[in-house]
Amino acid sequence: VESDKMIAIKAIDKGIVHRICAGQVITDLSSAVKELVENSLDASSTTLEINLKNYGQHSIQVIDNGTGISPSNFKVLALKHHTSKLGTFHDLQSLTTYGFRGEALSSLCAMADLTIETKTKNEVVGTQLTFDHSGVLIAQSKIARQVGTTVTVKNLFSNLPVRSKEFSRNIRREYGKLVSLLNAYALIATNVRFVCTNTTGKNARSVVLKTQGSASLKDNIITVLGINTFRCLEPVTLSLSDSCKVDGFLSKSGQGNGRSLGDRQYFFVNGRPVDMPKVSKVVNEIYKGANSKQYPIAILNFTVPTRAYDVNVTPDKRKIFISEESAILQALREGLQQIYSASGVCYSVNKAE
Ligand code: ADP
Ligand code: MG
Repeated sequence: VESDKMIAIKAIDKGIVHRICAGQVITDLSSAVKELVENSLDASSTTLEINLKNYGQHSIQVIDNGTGISPSNFKVLALKHHTSKLGTFHDLQSLTTYGFRGEALSSLCAMADLTIETKTKNEVVGTQLTFDHSGVLIAQSKIARQVGTTVTVKNLFSNLPVRSKEFSRNIRREYGKLVSLLNAYALIATNVRFVCTNTTGKNARSVVLKTQGSASLKDNIITVLGINTFRCLEPVTLSLSDSCKVDGFLSKSGQGNGRSLGDRQYFFVNGRPVDMPKVSKVVNEIYKGANSKQYPIAILNFTVPTRAYDVNVTPDKRKIFISEESAILQALREGLQQIYSASGVCYSVNKAE
Protein backbone atom coordinates (compact mmCIF):
# COMPACT_ATOMS: atom_id res chain seq x y z
CA VAL A 1 0.00 0.00 0.00
CA GLU A 2 1.39 3.41 -0.95
CA SER A 3 1.00 5.37 2.25
CA ASP A 4 1.58 8.76 0.67
CA LYS A 5 -1.11 8.29 -1.98
CA MET A 6 -4.09 10.59 -1.34
CA ILE A 7 -7.56 9.13 -1.55
CA ALA A 8 -9.69 11.28 -3.79
CA ILE A 9 -13.16 12.38 -2.73
CA LYS A 10 -15.47 11.92 -5.70
CA ALA A 11 -19.15 12.44 -6.35
CA ILE A 12 -21.13 9.20 -6.23
CA ASP A 13 -22.60 8.33 -9.60
CA LYS A 14 -26.18 9.70 -9.82
CA GLY A 15 -27.64 6.32 -10.64
CA ILE A 16 -26.04 4.79 -7.55
CA VAL A 17 -27.26 7.65 -5.34
CA HIS A 18 -30.74 7.04 -6.67
CA ARG A 19 -30.64 3.37 -5.75
CA ILE A 20 -29.21 4.06 -2.30
CA CYS A 21 -31.94 6.60 -1.48
CA ALA A 22 -34.75 4.60 -3.07
CA GLY A 23 -34.11 1.78 -0.60
CA GLN A 24 -35.05 4.14 2.21
CA VAL A 25 -38.32 5.23 0.65
CA ILE A 26 -39.52 1.80 -0.38
CA THR A 27 -38.43 -0.25 2.59
CA ASP A 28 -40.93 -3.10 2.53
CA LEU A 29 -44.16 -4.35 1.01
CA SER A 30 -46.30 -1.96 3.07
CA SER A 31 -44.38 1.13 2.04
CA ALA A 32 -44.61 0.19 -1.64
CA VAL A 33 -48.38 -0.27 -1.49
CA LYS A 34 -48.85 2.74 0.80
CA GLU A 35 -47.24 5.05 -1.76
CA LEU A 36 -49.49 3.78 -4.54
CA VAL A 37 -52.64 4.03 -2.43
CA GLU A 38 -51.74 7.57 -1.40
CA ASN A 39 -51.17 8.56 -5.02
CA SER A 40 -54.61 7.21 -5.95
CA LEU A 41 -56.26 9.08 -3.07
CA ASP A 42 -54.37 12.26 -4.00
CA ALA A 43 -55.81 11.88 -7.52
CA SER A 44 -59.38 12.06 -6.09
CA SER A 45 -60.22 8.41 -6.75
CA THR A 46 -63.48 7.01 -5.44
CA THR A 47 -62.66 3.39 -6.15
CA LEU A 48 -59.37 1.72 -5.45
CA GLU A 49 -58.52 -1.86 -6.23
CA ILE A 50 -55.34 -3.44 -4.91
CA ASN A 51 -54.45 -6.81 -6.38
CA LEU A 52 -51.51 -8.78 -5.06
CA LYS A 53 -49.99 -11.90 -6.53
CA ASN A 54 -48.24 -14.15 -4.06
CA TYR A 55 -48.60 -11.55 -1.27
CA GLY A 56 -47.06 -8.88 -3.47
CA GLN A 57 -43.91 -10.85 -4.12
CA HIS A 58 -44.78 -11.55 -7.72
CA SER A 59 -46.72 -8.35 -8.36
CA ILE A 60 -48.69 -5.48 -6.87
CA GLN A 61 -51.30 -3.73 -8.93
CA VAL A 62 -53.26 -0.66 -7.87
CA ILE A 63 -56.18 0.36 -10.08
CA ASP A 64 -57.92 3.68 -9.50
CA ASN A 65 -60.59 5.82 -11.12
CA GLY A 66 -58.89 9.12 -10.30
CA THR A 67 -57.93 12.01 -12.56
CA GLY A 68 -55.42 10.04 -14.61
CA ILE A 69 -52.10 11.47 -15.76
CA SER A 70 -51.93 13.89 -18.64
CA PRO A 71 -49.60 13.06 -21.58
CA SER A 72 -47.55 16.20 -20.98
CA ASN A 73 -46.38 14.60 -17.70
CA PHE A 74 -45.47 11.14 -19.00
CA LYS A 75 -41.76 11.84 -19.48
CA VAL A 76 -41.10 13.28 -16.02
CA LEU A 77 -43.62 11.18 -14.11
CA ALA A 78 -41.18 8.75 -12.52
CA LEU A 79 -38.13 11.00 -12.33
CA LYS A 80 -36.72 11.64 -8.90
CA HIS A 81 -38.22 14.64 -7.08
CA HIS A 82 -40.80 15.34 -9.76
CA THR A 83 -44.22 16.14 -8.31
CA SER A 84 -47.39 17.98 -9.19
CA LYS A 85 -48.10 18.64 -5.50
CA LEU A 86 -45.39 20.97 -4.21
CA GLY A 87 -44.23 24.17 -5.86
CA THR A 88 -42.30 26.19 -3.29
CA PHE A 89 -40.71 25.27 0.03
CA HIS A 90 -43.37 27.43 1.65
CA ASP A 91 -46.08 25.09 0.28
CA LEU A 92 -44.89 22.53 2.85
CA GLN A 93 -46.88 24.48 5.43
CA SER A 94 -50.20 24.24 3.68
CA LEU A 95 -50.18 20.80 2.06
CA THR A 96 -53.30 18.71 2.07
CA THR A 97 -52.05 15.89 -0.16
CA TYR A 98 -50.43 12.71 1.10
CA GLY A 99 -47.51 13.07 -1.32
CA PHE A 100 -45.21 16.01 -2.01
CA ARG A 101 -41.68 14.65 -2.17
CA GLY A 102 -41.92 13.29 -5.71
CA GLU A 103 -39.92 10.19 -4.95
CA ALA A 104 -42.32 7.26 -4.71
CA LEU A 105 -42.58 6.36 -8.38
CA SER A 106 -38.89 6.99 -9.00
CA SER A 107 -37.98 4.84 -5.99
CA LEU A 108 -40.33 2.07 -7.10
CA CYS A 109 -38.61 2.12 -10.50
CA ALA A 110 -35.27 1.61 -8.77
CA MET A 111 -36.60 -1.29 -6.66
CA ALA A 112 -38.86 -3.08 -9.14
CA ASP A 113 -40.25 -3.23 -12.70
CA LEU A 114 -42.86 -0.51 -13.12
CA THR A 115 -45.59 -0.03 -15.72
CA ILE A 116 -48.37 2.52 -15.63
CA GLU A 117 -51.59 2.65 -17.60
CA THR A 118 -53.54 5.86 -17.50
CA LYS A 119 -56.17 8.01 -19.14
CA THR A 120 -57.58 11.43 -18.27
CA LYS A 121 -61.05 12.61 -19.23
CA ASN A 122 -59.49 14.67 -22.05
CA GLU A 123 -58.03 11.66 -23.89
CA VAL A 124 -59.93 9.30 -26.17
CA VAL A 125 -57.60 6.36 -25.55
CA GLY A 126 -55.35 5.44 -22.69
CA THR A 127 -51.59 4.93 -22.68
CA GLN A 128 -49.36 2.25 -21.26
CA LEU A 129 -45.99 3.47 -20.01
CA THR A 130 -42.90 1.45 -19.16
CA PHE A 131 -39.99 2.88 -17.15
CA ASP A 132 -36.42 1.76 -16.60
CA HIS A 133 -34.75 1.50 -13.20
CA SER A 134 -33.75 5.16 -13.18
CA GLY A 135 -37.31 6.31 -13.86
CA VAL A 136 -36.79 7.12 -17.55
CA LEU A 137 -39.75 6.43 -19.80
CA ILE A 138 -38.62 3.73 -22.24
CA ALA A 139 -41.81 2.58 -23.99
CA GLN A 140 -45.26 3.95 -24.61
CA SER A 141 -48.28 2.43 -26.39
CA LYS A 142 -51.98 3.09 -26.81
CA ILE A 143 -54.47 0.97 -24.86
CA ALA A 144 -58.20 0.98 -24.19
CA ARG A 145 -59.12 1.85 -20.61
CA GLN A 146 -61.36 3.93 -18.36
CA VAL A 147 -60.37 7.27 -16.89
CA GLY A 148 -57.92 6.64 -14.06
CA THR A 149 -54.59 4.98 -13.46
CA THR A 150 -53.25 1.47 -12.98
CA VAL A 151 -49.78 1.03 -11.57
CA THR A 152 -48.17 -2.41 -11.74
CA VAL A 153 -45.08 -3.23 -9.73
CA LYS A 154 -43.34 -6.53 -10.46
CA ASN A 155 -40.36 -8.24 -8.87
CA LEU A 156 -40.11 -5.90 -5.90
CA PHE A 157 -36.58 -5.88 -4.40
CA SER A 158 -35.28 -8.39 -6.96
CA ASN A 159 -32.15 -6.26 -7.34
CA LEU A 160 -31.46 -6.15 -3.58
CA PRO A 161 -30.52 -9.73 -2.62
CA VAL A 162 -30.60 -9.22 1.16
CA ARG A 163 -33.93 -7.47 1.24
CA SER A 164 -35.43 -9.78 -1.32
CA LYS A 165 -34.51 -12.76 0.88
CA GLU A 166 -35.93 -11.06 3.97
CA PHE A 167 -39.08 -10.30 2.02
CA SER A 168 -39.60 -13.97 1.12
CA ARG A 169 -38.71 -15.19 4.56
CA ASN A 170 -41.13 -12.86 6.36
CA ILE A 171 -43.80 -12.77 3.70
CA ARG A 172 -46.72 -13.57 6.03
CA ARG A 173 -45.69 -10.95 8.53
CA GLU A 174 -45.14 -8.36 5.80
CA TYR A 175 -48.55 -9.17 4.46
CA GLY A 176 -50.17 -8.82 7.90
CA LYS A 177 -48.57 -5.43 8.32
CA LEU A 178 -49.87 -4.39 4.92
CA VAL A 179 -53.43 -5.45 5.71
CA SER A 180 -53.39 -3.44 8.92
CA LEU A 181 -52.07 -0.41 7.02
CA LEU A 182 -54.74 -0.73 4.35
CA ASN A 183 -57.35 -0.92 7.09
CA ALA A 184 -56.18 2.48 8.31
CA TYR A 185 -56.71 4.07 4.88
CA ALA A 186 -60.01 2.26 4.38
CA LEU A 187 -61.23 3.56 7.75
CA ILE A 188 -60.36 7.19 7.21
CA ALA A 189 -61.07 7.59 3.49
CA THR A 190 -64.78 8.29 3.32
CA ASN A 191 -66.56 7.95 -0.02
CA VAL A 192 -63.82 5.68 -1.38
CA ARG A 193 -64.47 2.02 -2.15
CA PHE A 194 -61.53 -0.24 -1.36
CA VAL A 195 -61.02 -3.77 -2.60
CA CYS A 196 -57.86 -5.67 -1.86
CA THR A 197 -57.24 -9.18 -3.11
CA ASN A 198 -54.42 -11.68 -3.03
CA THR A 199 -53.80 -14.65 -5.33
CA THR A 200 -51.33 -17.39 -4.51
CA GLY A 201 -50.35 -20.23 -6.82
CA LYS A 202 -53.32 -21.68 -8.65
CA ASN A 203 -55.75 -20.68 -5.91
CA ALA A 204 -58.67 -18.39 -6.54
CA ARG A 205 -58.36 -14.76 -5.53
CA SER A 206 -59.06 -14.15 -1.89
CA VAL A 207 -60.61 -10.87 -0.87
CA VAL A 208 -58.61 -9.32 1.94
CA LEU A 209 -60.55 -6.13 2.39
CA LYS A 210 -63.70 -4.73 0.86
CA THR A 211 -65.50 -1.51 1.73
CA GLN A 212 -68.58 0.21 0.33
CA GLY A 213 -67.42 3.79 -0.03
CA SER A 214 -69.46 4.96 2.95
CA ALA A 215 -69.68 8.61 3.81
CA SER A 216 -68.94 8.28 7.52
CA LEU A 217 -66.16 7.00 9.74
CA LYS A 218 -68.78 5.08 11.70
CA ASP A 219 -69.88 3.10 8.64
CA ASN A 220 -66.28 2.48 7.64
CA ILE A 221 -65.56 1.08 11.10
CA ILE A 222 -68.53 -1.24 10.77
CA THR A 223 -67.29 -2.56 7.41
CA VAL A 224 -63.60 -2.76 8.24
CA LEU A 225 -63.65 -3.89 11.88
CA GLY A 226 -67.13 -5.43 12.06
CA ILE A 227 -70.39 -4.53 13.77
CA ASN A 228 -69.52 -6.40 16.96
CA THR A 229 -66.35 -4.40 17.40
CA PHE A 230 -68.21 -1.20 16.62
CA ARG A 231 -70.76 -1.90 19.35
CA CYS A 232 -67.97 -1.90 21.91
CA LEU A 233 -66.83 1.59 20.90
CA GLU A 234 -68.05 4.99 21.88
CA PRO A 235 -67.72 8.22 19.92
CA VAL A 236 -65.22 10.75 21.22
CA THR A 237 -64.90 14.44 20.40
CA LEU A 238 -62.50 16.62 22.36
CA SER A 239 -61.28 20.14 21.88
CA LEU A 240 -57.57 20.10 22.72
CA SER A 241 -56.63 23.73 22.12
CA ASP A 242 -57.91 26.81 20.25
CA SER A 243 -57.08 25.23 16.93
CA CYS A 244 -56.74 21.50 17.58
CA LYS A 245 -59.34 18.83 18.21
CA VAL A 246 -59.69 15.10 18.09
CA ASP A 247 -62.62 12.99 16.85
CA GLY A 248 -63.13 9.29 16.64
CA PHE A 249 -64.04 6.19 18.59
CA LEU A 250 -62.62 4.45 21.64
CA SER A 251 -63.44 1.25 23.48
CA LYS A 252 -66.17 1.62 26.09
CA SER A 253 -64.70 1.25 29.52
CA GLY A 254 -65.96 -2.28 30.16
CA GLN A 255 -65.51 -3.50 26.60
CA GLY A 256 -61.89 -3.17 25.64
CA ASN A 257 -61.59 -5.99 23.16
CA GLY A 258 -58.16 -5.19 21.80
CA ARG A 259 -56.33 -8.51 21.55
CA SER A 260 -53.11 -6.99 22.80
CA LEU A 261 -51.74 -3.60 23.76
CA GLY A 262 -51.92 -1.45 20.63
CA ASP A 263 -54.11 -3.85 18.67
CA ARG A 264 -56.41 -1.91 16.31
CA GLN A 265 -55.28 1.51 17.41
CA TYR A 266 -55.39 3.83 14.43
CA PHE A 267 -54.20 7.41 14.67
CA PHE A 268 -54.54 10.10 12.02
CA VAL A 269 -53.55 13.73 11.68
CA ASN A 270 -55.87 15.53 9.30
CA GLY A 271 -56.77 12.16 7.81
CA ARG A 272 -53.18 10.99 7.36
CA PRO A 273 -52.42 7.66 9.05
CA VAL A 274 -49.41 8.25 11.32
CA ASP A 275 -47.61 6.68 14.26
CA MET A 276 -48.44 8.45 17.53
CA PRO A 277 -46.71 6.47 20.27
CA LYS A 278 -47.25 9.21 22.85
CA VAL A 279 -50.95 9.44 22.13
CA SER A 280 -51.23 5.67 22.28
CA LYS A 281 -49.48 5.74 25.65
CA VAL A 282 -51.95 8.30 27.03
CA VAL A 283 -54.93 6.31 25.74
CA ASN A 284 -53.61 3.08 27.22
CA GLU A 285 -52.78 4.63 30.56
CA ILE A 286 -56.12 6.33 31.06
CA TYR A 287 -57.95 3.27 29.87
CA LYS A 288 -56.02 1.09 32.26
CA GLY A 289 -57.22 3.31 35.10
CA ALA A 290 -60.81 2.43 34.21
CA ASN A 291 -60.25 -1.16 33.18
CA SER A 292 -57.02 -2.87 34.07
CA LYS A 293 -58.04 -6.19 32.50
CA GLN A 294 -58.53 -5.22 28.88
CA TYR A 295 -56.94 -3.29 26.02
CA PRO A 296 -58.63 -0.39 24.23
CA ILE A 297 -59.26 -0.14 20.51
CA ALA A 298 -58.85 3.42 19.22
CA ILE A 299 -59.63 5.23 15.98
CA LEU A 300 -58.68 8.86 16.51
CA ASN A 301 -58.29 11.65 13.98
CA PHE A 302 -56.56 14.84 15.11
CA THR A 303 -57.49 18.03 13.32
CA VAL A 304 -54.49 20.34 13.44
CA PRO A 305 -53.82 23.48 11.33
CA THR A 306 -51.42 22.51 8.52
CA ARG A 307 -49.03 25.18 9.84
CA ALA A 308 -48.77 23.50 13.24
CA TYR A 309 -47.25 20.16 12.34
CA ASP A 310 -44.47 18.69 10.26
CA VAL A 311 -44.75 15.33 8.52
CA ASN A 312 -41.54 15.74 6.59
CA VAL A 313 -39.48 13.96 9.24
CA THR A 314 -39.00 10.57 7.61
CA PRO A 315 -39.56 9.59 3.95
CA ASP A 316 -42.62 7.52 4.87
CA LYS A 317 -44.17 10.49 6.73
CA ARG A 318 -45.34 8.22 9.55
CA LYS A 319 -43.53 10.24 12.17
CA ILE A 320 -44.73 13.76 12.87
CA PHE A 321 -43.78 16.78 14.91
CA ILE A 322 -46.70 18.75 16.31
CA SER A 323 -46.15 22.16 17.84
CA GLU A 324 -47.30 22.40 21.44
CA GLU A 325 -47.46 18.64 21.59
CA SER A 326 -47.21 18.44 25.37
CA ALA A 327 -50.17 20.79 25.87
CA ILE A 328 -52.20 18.73 23.41
CA LEU A 329 -51.30 15.49 25.17
CA GLN A 330 -52.22 17.00 28.52
CA ALA A 331 -55.61 18.15 27.18
CA LEU A 332 -56.16 14.68 25.73
CA ARG A 333 -55.28 13.08 29.06
CA GLU A 334 -57.76 15.29 30.93
CA GLY A 335 -60.48 14.79 28.32
CA LEU A 336 -60.16 11.02 28.38
CA GLN A 337 -60.06 10.94 32.16
CA GLN A 338 -63.38 12.74 32.21
CA ILE A 339 -64.93 10.41 29.63
CA TYR A 340 -63.91 7.28 31.48
CA SER A 341 -64.84 8.50 34.91
CA ALA A 342 -68.22 9.76 33.62
CA SER A 343 -69.05 6.53 31.81
CA GLY A 344 -69.26 4.90 35.21
CA VAL A 345 -68.85 1.36 33.95
CA CYS A 346 -65.69 0.96 35.94
CA TYR A 347 -64.38 -2.51 35.38
CA SER A 348 -62.99 -3.17 38.79
CA VAL A 349 -60.43 -5.86 39.46
CA ASN A 350 -62.90 -7.72 41.72
CA LYS A 351 -65.54 -7.78 39.03
CA ALA A 352 -63.19 -9.26 36.49
CA GLU A 353 -62.01 -12.02 38.76
P1 ADP B 1 -45.66 12.65 -5.08
O1 ADP B 1 -46.86 11.84 -4.72
O2 ADP B 1 -44.85 13.01 -3.88
O3 ADP B 1 -45.97 13.81 -5.94
P2 ADP B 1 -44.91 10.34 -6.67
O4 ADP B 1 -43.61 9.84 -7.17
O5 ADP B 1 -45.68 9.46 -5.77
O6 ADP B 1 -44.65 11.73 -5.95
O7 ADP B 1 -45.81 10.69 -7.92
C1 ADP B 1 -45.34 11.63 -8.88
C2 ADP B 1 -46.49 12.31 -9.59
O8 ADP B 1 -47.16 11.38 -10.43
C3 ADP B 1 -47.56 12.86 -8.67
O9 ADP B 1 -47.22 14.17 -8.22
C4 ADP B 1 -48.79 12.84 -9.56
O10 ADP B 1 -48.86 14.02 -10.35
C5 ADP B 1 -48.54 11.67 -10.50
N1 ADP B 1 -49.27 10.44 -10.10
C6 ADP B 1 -48.77 9.37 -9.45
N2 ADP B 1 -49.71 8.42 -9.25
C7 ADP B 1 -50.84 8.90 -9.77
C8 ADP B 1 -52.20 8.39 -9.86
N3 ADP B 1 -52.55 7.20 -9.37
N4 ADP B 1 -53.12 9.18 -10.48
C9 ADP B 1 -52.78 10.40 -10.98
N5 ADP B 1 -51.54 10.93 -10.91
C10 ADP B 1 -50.57 10.20 -10.33
MG1 MG C 1 -46.85 9.95 -4.02
